[in-house]
Amino acid sequence: MRSRPAGVLDKSLTLLSTDLGRLFCVAKSAQKSMRRFGGCLNLFSEVEAEITIKKNMESARLESCVLIDSFSGIQGCLENLRFASAGVELVDRMVYGSENVDLFFHETRSFLKSISSGFGTEALTCFKLRITSLAGFQPELEHCVICGRETTDREFTRLFDFNKGGLLCPICSNEIIPLNYPSGELTSISNDAKNRLLVILADDLTVYNDSKNIASQECQDFINAFLLLKLGIKLRSLGSSG
Ligand SMILES: [Zn+2]
Repeated sequence: MRSRPAGVLDKSLTLLSTDLGRLFCVAKSAQKSMRRFGGCLNLFSEVEAEITIKKNMESARLESCVLIDSFSGIQGCLENLRFASAGVELVDRMVYGSENVDLFFHETRSFLKSISSGFGTEALTCFKLRITSLAGFQPELEHCVICGRETTDREFTRLFDFNKGGLLCPICSNEIIPLNYPSGELTSISNDAKNRLLVILADDLTVYNDSKNIASQECQDFINAFLLLKLGIKLRSLGSSG
């Protein structure tokens, strides 16, 4: 996820692992000898790593690693590097303290594979929502977030409350609108976007390539607004485009 020089010889790495989640480790002599770890230390690569963690040590030591997938479509492509950086930045902020770290790992691998295959915007949009959901912040899209009543596609009013993190039924909408909410905390959301978001969240969406063209512009705007207003997250890696 991250890599920087440590002293003259070593490299300091942040890894995402299947069993330990986010892991800080040092690769000894990685700056001196390129051969020692081969191409394994490039950002956004999947590797099988042997790591030593000593008792009471905050950081671990990378002993050896074998490259499994370099996601070659990312390396050397500036736009794909931006997408990958933004996704990894989000994982870095969300995985901490989470229990299901293996799911974060598998989700991230699917994401990087999709970016490498050229599905940048689509993959990043889906990934943002799925990672947010994995971290326990799934938007409530099927029931009213206040009264719990199931919402239907036939209802005329469809408001989403970013503050509460879910849809409002028409009755609760009517009660809450006169309260002069701060601007931006409520948004109207179309049935089309709501249903697309539910598809993105579906359990069986493991390869983002299959979902090409699911993430409409409205979905992208909604997910960015949800990250910002509900969680206070604006990804640095994407600059002003969010
Ligand atoms: Zn309600």
